Amino acid sequence: MEKNEGTDLLQQLHRDYTASLGPQFDQIENLIDAIACSDTAFDEAQQFLRELHRQVHSLSGSSGSFGYDRLHKEARNLDQRLNVFLKKSEPLHPDALQQLRSEITAMRRLTDAAIDQQARKQPAISKESSEILASTTELSEKLVYVIEDDLHVGAEIMQQLSLLGTRVNLLENATLAAQAIKQQMPDALLIDIGLPEGMFAGTQLVSEMQQRYDNAAPVLFFSARGDWDSRLAAVRAGGRAFLTKPLDYGHLLALLNQSLLGADNEPYRVLIVDDSVAVANYTAEVLRMAGMSVEILNHPEKIFDVLLAYKPELILLDLYMPEVNGNEVARVLRQHPDLMDIPIVFLSTEKNADLQYATLAQGEDFLQKPIQDEHLLQVVQARIQRSRQLGTLMFNDGLTGLLNHVALKQKLEEEISRNQRAPHPVSFVMLDIDHFKMVNDRFGHPAGDRVLKTISRVLQQRLRKADQIGRYGGEEFAVILPATTAQQSVKIINDIRERFELLSHSADSTTFHCTFSAGVAELLPGEEADTLVQRADKALYDAKNHGRNQVHVAS
Ligand code: GH3
Ligand code: MG
Ligand code: MG
Repeated sequence: MEKNEGTDLLQQLHRDYTASLGPQFDQIENLIDAIACSDTAFDEAQQFLRELHRQVHSLSGSSGSFGYDRLHKEARNLDQRLNVFLKKSEPLHPDALQQLRSEITAMRRLTDAAIDQQARKQPAISKESSEILASTTELSEKLVYVIEDDLHVGAEIMQQLSLLGTRVNLLENATLAAQAIKQQMPDALLIDIGLPEGMFAGTQLVSEMQQRYDNAAPVLFFSARGDWDSRLAAVRAGGRAFLTKPLDYGHLLALLNQSLLGADNEPYRVLIVDDSVAVANYTAEVLRMAGMSVEILNHPEKIFDVLLAYKPELILLDLYMPEVNGNEVARVLRQHPDLMDIPIVFLSTEKNADLQYATLAQGEDFLQKPIQDEHLLQVVQARIQRSRQLGTLMFNDGLTGLLNHVALKQKLEEEISRNQRAPHPVSFVMLDIDHFKMVNDRFGHPAGDRVLKTISRVLQQRLRKADQIGRYGGEEFAVILPATTAQQSVKIINDIRERFELLSHSADSTTFHCTFSAGVAELLPGEEADTLVQRADKALYDAKNHGRNQVHVAS
């Protein structure tokens, strides 16, 4: 699917779906009549009842996805009651059938009213789309299979995924999906548990795939049912996630992003400083076999060069070296502001307890050689893991994982000083969600939090690796775009704005949309960070004053 086609497709699908509701109700009514007429033949009535259940079930799933929230709720209720009826071994009482009929009539009326309302709030969509964006994200090379028999829901999912810029194939049953997997293993699978082949055809297909292929893709399951059996089947089939319909697209995009890009897979980086080449090589091999990345330094006086180029996350330091001892190296490093918190672990044959305690008292770790390989690994892993966690707390925002205010300001200072050495365009963007207070008030604080996470993800997905993204305050974000003029930035941010506007957010069983406003400022020669930020902020407020959901440039 081409990116531009996505939004048109969405509108077309919405129209098609809305048009299909009347005939769906007709069929449902016909089935109720058929049950009423077959009251002498119990088996026949059961067959009609099963079909009725299937149709109501599918209506419940699809209506939620298309924003018919009340219809979704009513249909889900009915779905559950029909399920109970199905388990009974006697025919339905005529009163129950009459009750069903009047419920369907009420749902029809409700739907007509909702169609009226929806017709009035169709989003206006611009066709402008920036090619720079998709081509620069890794996601554009990824392939996702969506396996869903309800084509309306399937296409809605595809439209939402097109926001990510990934390639998506929609497959409507397990047989087609199995063929597609055989031809090419996708990068991720999004699959309905119930498919035309059976209520658990989805999980069966995935179990078979896991057995047959070594390179089986990560799987996210979804279902209109959230019951224990479905969830258990999903876990047993090796699913990474289980989502219920109507889908929370923010959550879905986050999970998919994680599955496609991998969150914390970067190997740990260790620097070994030891004058003995053989000892260093051996230790390095132990760490490398555990998947770490290792550099060796045999001459400690070169340590600053290596630290800058390699940026290790932990230093394994020998205590006795010919020209300088390890304690001195550690003290030199600790005097450097950037190296104050890098973990240092001494690895030495030193048996003297006083010396060992002296090292510990300096705040460094001490491991005595010989040490078993697995003990060394445990300590190194634990130290780096902890320091990554701390780094996250100090420089990243807890809710969104983006850079926090302090870290972003630091990045901006760095970018500006780079710019003074080698001038190039730099843009700074301030971005603020529109009427966010109302989102909290109407849909609750947790729903607001999810919107913040979603916008963070959209920014991460749509911007380049070189761009720095931060959460500047509550619902305010800021972006540094190196090598990008104000004009280019406006194009990029506008593209994101248009996509974000289309994304549905969910709260309980309703869905809603959000917009944001943004201000862009391009760094002037000799300008300081503070004034650049002020100009972007001023442009943001212009955007707010001109009606929100727009991007303005600082003069
Ligand atoms: P405007 O379009 O003018 O920006 O209106 P607004 O309602 O978005 O702006 P305002 O600054 O009046 O309100 C911001 C709201 O954001 C108020 C605050 O409760 C909410 N908020 C700030 N941080 C968080 C957060 O972490 N989570 C949630 N859910 N809400 C937050
Ligand atoms: Mg706001
Ligand atoms: Mg605000």
